[in-house]
Amino acid sequence: MTNKKTKPERQEPAGEQRPVKQKSERLPPFKAGLPALQTALLNWYSAHARAFVWRAENVPPYVTLVAEIMLQQTQTTRVQEKLPEFLELFPNVQSLAAADNASIIRAWSGMGYNNRALRLRDCARAIVGKHAGIVPDEHEALLALPGIGPYTAAALCAFAFHQDIAVLDVNIRRVYSRLFWRMEHSDQTAAVQLVDRLAHKVFPRGRSAAWHQALMDLGATVCIAFRPRCEACALSIHCASAFRITPRRPEKKKEAGFQGTPNRIWRGKIVEILRNSDDGKWCDSSKVLQLIMPPALFSAAPESETRIWLHKIVRGLERDGLLEVKQSGRTDEKFHIRLRVRDG
Ligand code: SF4
Repeated sequence: MTNKKTKPERQEPAGEQRPVKQKSERLPPFKAGLPALQTALLNWYSAHARAFVWRAENVPPYVTLVAEIMLQQTQTTRVQEKLPEFLELFPNVQSLAAADNASIIRAWSGMGYNNRALRLRDCARAIVGKHAGIVPDEHEALLALPGIGPYTAAALCAFAFHQDIAVLDVNIRRVYSRLFWRMEHSDQTAAVQLVDRLAHKVFPRGRSAAWHQALMDLGATVCIAFRPRCEACALSIHCASAFRITPRRPEKKKEAGFQGTPNRIWRGKIVEILRNSDDGKWCDSSKVLQLIMPPALFSAAPESETRIWLHKIVRGLERDGLLEVKQSGRTDEKFHIRLRVRDG
């Protein structure tokens, strides 16, 4: 399960960022010049880099791929713990490609968002099928793989293949916004297109991996989302927003849920129950409900409402390829369905 206090580093923010209109689309002038800023950030990184399993020397591209998919929606401390366990079970692309749904979901236990595990396995199958089992080193080829978006493709090019490419996620865009334009509130960022154009110009050629990892570490430990620690920041003399940012909570997106709990938590609970049941065994939906809900909530929840809600959740899990569903009982009794982790 994810720690509520720590956000996954590669996750999109829960609330809306407020883009700030820029007067000019030109690269902003730096107080001490771009080379001085680059040196300051890289020096800071040399002294403060976080030591993660996926940053060790000579890590194979496959390990970078697994780590980056894990980091999309899970915090770094959890990935640090789970990655070695996962790699013991699936040490290379071929073993991951051969994994069936049940074993991959079981291995993903505690990571949340189980459909990522299936996309990762599908990605391994595509690498075996189209690239002879070798993780491709071209941005376009990476983007064409299942589960790989622009961020992950760029991260692989930079971190696994040491290519000169801009890597952009929410946290890096936030740090760039603050560094190069004057932000007043913690939930503000510069326009995405503007930040992205700038990002291609500012990283030091030949040092893309270190530069972007440095930005990630700075964003996670110093230039944090809500209350940046400018007093501890090695870039404060270069930063347009230093000591000017007022904390402001982003507007929260309303998340669909049931009985006060978001549906993504219920989805995780259902998969967890089925993952731990005997291999291939069908579970009755009423039994699943009893296992995921506290007894008081289960008996108090209105049956028809619960039935409609559960049906929706289960069909979503089925669409994502996580569950198999079969009708048991009368066809109009949607509550009486049986579930199990999908074969595959
Ligand atoms: S000086 Fe403050 S706002 Fe600027 S990069 Fe550092 S922590 Fe972020």
